[in-house]
Amino acid sequence: ASSADPYDVVIIGGGPGGYVAAIKAGQSGLKAACIEKRGTLGGTCLNVGCIPSKALLHNSELYHAAGHEFKNRGIDIKDMSLNLGQMMKAKDSSVGALTKGVEGLLKKNKVDYIKGAASFAGPTSINVQLNDGGETQIEAKNVVIATGSEVTPFPGIEIDEEQIVSSTGALALKKVPEKMIVIGGGVIGLEMGSVWNRLGSQVSVVEFLPTIGGAGMDHEVAANFKKILEKQGLKFNLGTKVIDAEKKDGKVFLNVEDAKSGKKQQIDADVVLVAIGRRPYTKGLNLEAIGVETDKRGRIVVDDAYNTTCKGVKCIGDATFGPMLAHKAEEEGIAVIEMLARGHGHVNYEAIPAVVYTHPEVAWVGKSEQELKDAGVSYKIGKFPFLANSRAKTNQDSEGFVKTIVEKETEKILGVHIIGPNAGELISSSVLAIEYGASAEDTSAVCHAHPTLSEAVKESALAATDKAHHKA
Ligand code: FAD
Ligand code: NAD
Repeated sequence: ASSADPYDVVIIGGGPGGYVAAIKAGQSGLKAACIEKRGTLGGTCLNVGCIPSKALLHNSELYHAAGHEFKNRGIDIKDMSLNLGQMMKAKDSSVGALTKGVEGLLKKNKVDYIKGAASFAGPTSINVQLNDGGETQIEAKNVVIATGSEVTPFPGIEIDEEQIVSSTGALALKKVPEKMIVIGGGVIGLEMGSVWNRLGSQVSVVEFLPTIGGAGMDHEVAANFKKILEKQGLKFNLGTKVIDAEKKDGKVFLNVEDAKSGKKQQIDADVVLVAIGRRPYTKGLNLEAIGVETDKRGRIVVDDAYNTTCKGVKCIGDATFGPMLAHKAEEEGIAVIEMLARGHGHVNYEAIPAVVYTHPEVAWVGKSEQELKDAGVSYKIGKFPFLANSRAKTNQDSEGFVKTIVEKETEKILGVHIIGPNAGELISSSVLAIEYGASAEDTSAVCHAHPTLSEAVKESALAATDKAHHKA
């Protein structure tokens, strides 16, 4: 093939959806290109999302443990202090290594990496405004849109990324704010709120709903989670509506009102984090010109094979339906290329885990109790507290529990919800269980090593079976 031949597939966006699709395309023998305008690959996740937030979560947790827990564990440290600059450098170096690694993978798999902003000139032809200046036009037999998402703005509250920040600014503050207000008690609010709380800020979360954790979190877990975070020092104003914000004398003043009573109040902080969700990002793509439809929430409309309303143009990841998660985008990236290369591909949306990387972590897969109640499904629950798990006790880290929800008649596992140490790692065996349609007995019959936290997953499954119910 000469370079003038059209690409088999061009992927717009180099995030977890786009770069995984690009690598898979290369491996499948397709002539492929990935267009990314950011200057580095990895998208939101690697540059300003999953990866930098987890670097700060891990190191702030160590700092907090060193200051508050090490003594009880028999470790005395003298002259401990925070070096925020170094903590940020450590984060930046993880990000840099990973984004370069992705660039290496594209090269290895013979994918052309085009640095620039893409815009449709037609369904099969794309204009690219190159980052280095100038413009080029490329032709493609198929296009995959993987342009991701952006922060949902709060009407009337302007983000300056210093005093009023999005998650991006919250990942790069130059000093620890004395007081921080987080608008939105979802995943970003709780993760970034935890980071700055551990580093010494007084953090208050203002949330419109009566619960925390965002969509999908089991309500029993969310209530327990709130209590644990409160013990750590986070404050919550639930059922509270933010009206507006004003910057004065180096502070930000927020006017809020109680959602029920309408009672108004003013609260102030040095830094306000706006974390009320993310929305699909499709700016500049010129979708109108090729007839790609979006829904009311800006999501690109697709069928179950990721086809948009324009023939030959597909869409995956945060820009379309489903949970805005990196691993969901990656699964779709693989499936969309398998469809192109072999005619079929599949993602099991019933078996996508969600994890909140606070301490303790919260992780789940499948249905929550409230979802099953709403759907009128008969279910049984097995629960096991980490307090009764020997490894959690040995580690002096025994808050939380594992909750296994099974279908009443068949004991098929419908949902597993974990709040506790390493919940994010522990959930993977339950994802496998759901993927394979396992029953609680299947999980409880599997040998789990002792002493490990994973025994709590096994015990919780056992507790959900009739065997356990009949034991007493
Ligand atoms: P993105 O990662 O957003 O990538 C899209 C890319 O497309 C961007 O780099 C953008 O520059 C590029 N682009 C857009 N338009 C164009 C154009 N016209 N031309 C060229 N390039 C373009 N998810 C998890 O699963 N786990 C986590 O722990 C987690 N933590 C997060 C923490 C934070 C603070 C945030 C903000 C998000 C987090 N997420 C997490 C969500 C995760 O980042 C997203 O779900 C994921 O990045 C979506 O991948 P994507 O490929 O669809 O889009
Ligand atoms: P979110 O949807 O998780 O939470 C937003 C919260 O803000 C909700 O609880 C909502 O009720 C509340 N809210 C909305 N409008 C409000 C208002 N006007 N006033 C007060 N509260 C309001 O969104 P997020 O935390 O911004 O995260 C965005 C996306 O990024 C999520 O979809 C999430 O999946 C993804 N993400 C994932 C991870 C992870 O997997 N660990 C981490 C960070 C982000």
